[in-house]
Amino acid sequence: MKIGIIGAGPAGLACAYKLSAQGINPEVYEAGPSVGGLAKSIKLWNQTVDLGPHRFFSSDRRVNELWLEVVGKDYSMVDRLTRILYKGNLYQYPLKPGDVMGKLGPGETFRCLVSYFKEYFAPEAENGGDETFEGWVVKRFGRRLYEIFFKTYSEKLWGLPCRELDADFAVQRIKKFSLIEALKSSVLGDKGKKHKTLVDRFAYPLGGTGDVYERMAAFVSERGGAVNLSTPVRRVVNDGFHVRGLELMDGTVREYEHMVSTMPLTQLVSRLDGVSEPVLAAAKSLRFRNTILVYLNVHSSDLFPDNWIYVHSPELLFGRITNFRNWSPSLYGSEETSILALEFWCDEGDDIWRWEDERLIGLAKDEISRAGLVKADISSEGYVHRISKCYPVYSAGYKRLLKPVEDYLRKIEGLTVIGRYGSFKYNNQDHSILMGILAADNIAKDAHNDLWAINTDYEYQESAVITETGLVDTGG
Ligand SMILES: Cc1cc2nc3c(=O)[nH]c(=O)nc-3n(C[C@H](O)[C@H](O)[C@H](O)COP(=O)(O)OP(=O)(O)OC[C@H]3O[C@@H](n4cnc5c(N)ncnc54)[C@H](O)[C@@H]3O)c2cc1C
Repeated sequence: MKIGIIGAGPAGLACAYKLSAQGINPEVYEAGPSVGGLAKSIKLWNQTVDLGPHRFFSSDRRVNELWLEVVGKDYSMVDRLTRILYKGNLYQYPLKPGDVMGKLGPGETFRCLVSYFKEYFAPEAENGGDETFEGWVVKRFGRRLYEIFFKTYSEKLWGLPCRELDADFAVQRIKKFSLIEALKSSVLGDKGKKHKTLVDRFAYPLGGTGDVYERMAAFVSERGGAVNLSTPVRRVVNDGFHVRGLELMDGTVREYEHMVSTMPLTQLVSRLDGVSEPVLAAAKSLRFRNTILVYLNVHSSDLFPDNWIYVHSPELLFGRITNFRNWSPSLYGSEETSILALEFWCDEGDDIWRWEDERLIGLAKDEISRAGLVKADISSEGYVHRISKCYPVYSAGYKRLLKPVEDYLRKIEGLTVIGRYGSFKYNNQDHSILMGILAADNIAKDAHNDLWAINTDYEYQESAVITETGLVDTGG
């Protein structure tokens, strides 16, 4: 069977790898000059870094088995330390009530508690209820805590008031955190909590996150498949509801019986033949958010201990900072500097997206010294990496727009749509890898996995997590 795959990110390569392992040799087309997509690693100043923080974690046996099969023993366990910077204080993340109360002080803590109980006994009527991000969080945490710990960061990330953001973002990313549970565990300790330490540690490849995908690509090529780099695909070629293959940018058409696409959903749909106006209009309304990563090579090996810090402080423009010095010594080797990556989020039309590199590097240096994370006089070099269409924006009601697109694509025989911007889901690596695995099963084994049903809060069939000695069952 002739299979074409668009995109050599985690989803496309997991699918290609699984097909290759079953004797089907796919041909992968990647627009960029290297593999890994958003989860690639790059070389900078004689060190290895990722595109922002990339913590791989899954409790799904299928995903972890594949990851271990590819990485072998070439990984180490990293103790995660992540904090939130807000008004000059660093709060532990996930939030710990004792820490929060200590740093907010008695007055602010009292206001937070009053606001929490007010919401509990007399909920606000006009906050969007369970439909919007703001309504969902205020209902569970109270307005005051929402304003301190959820509002500023989310608005920086999405560029939308939280009232216009769908509750899905909260449901998928923070649903497991409950204030009452957190308070209980701060009073009772962590007794009875299963595998907490496993969750706070994660497995990280010695060669950087992207090493996993370089190995997958090598496997595909060794088995007889192809991974074509710097080969962007213009469109999937269809004849009504049947796939015929793909067209490259130079007009070359290649025929395939089955196409797997991880290209942005909006582009895929707008370039198919015969799409109805309402479906096109729905696809055009779906938005993505861009990221600008500014890397600084700071001449110190001891800045702050976190893997990354969320920057909630509203007076600072950047939203997150990663310190690659704290991931694995294999990334920096004998170098004595620390590479930091600051993330700025914006829309395609925003001025900052078109700023020159030097101006962005100047902004990053200024912001990190104002944040108090690096002294202003420590010299550093800078490098800028721009990511277009980085985050699918879950604006309120986006599911109503996605549904007709999904219904239309489901009807096209021989087309599988997966991945983060491929299927417009806020995937982490594990979700994209799972989509790739299940897509390969659908193609090679005629399985009938519903790939559109895989969300970031998917339920695991069997739970197992990666430890330093390999996979450990966690029940389920
Ligand atoms: C700053 C940041 C931090 C993150 N942190 C984490 C984390 O801590 N943990 C975690 O698990 N995940 C994290 N992620 C998410 C993770 O990177 C993604 O979930 C994952 O890379 C998605 O894989 P994918 O294959 O679905 O999509 P992508 O990685 O986006 O890959 C899609 C590929 O398709 C290619 N492509 C697109 N259009 C075309 C075309 N027309 N022709 C040919 N090729 C095309 C692209 O070049 C790209 O290589 C983070 C992402 C970012 C940006």
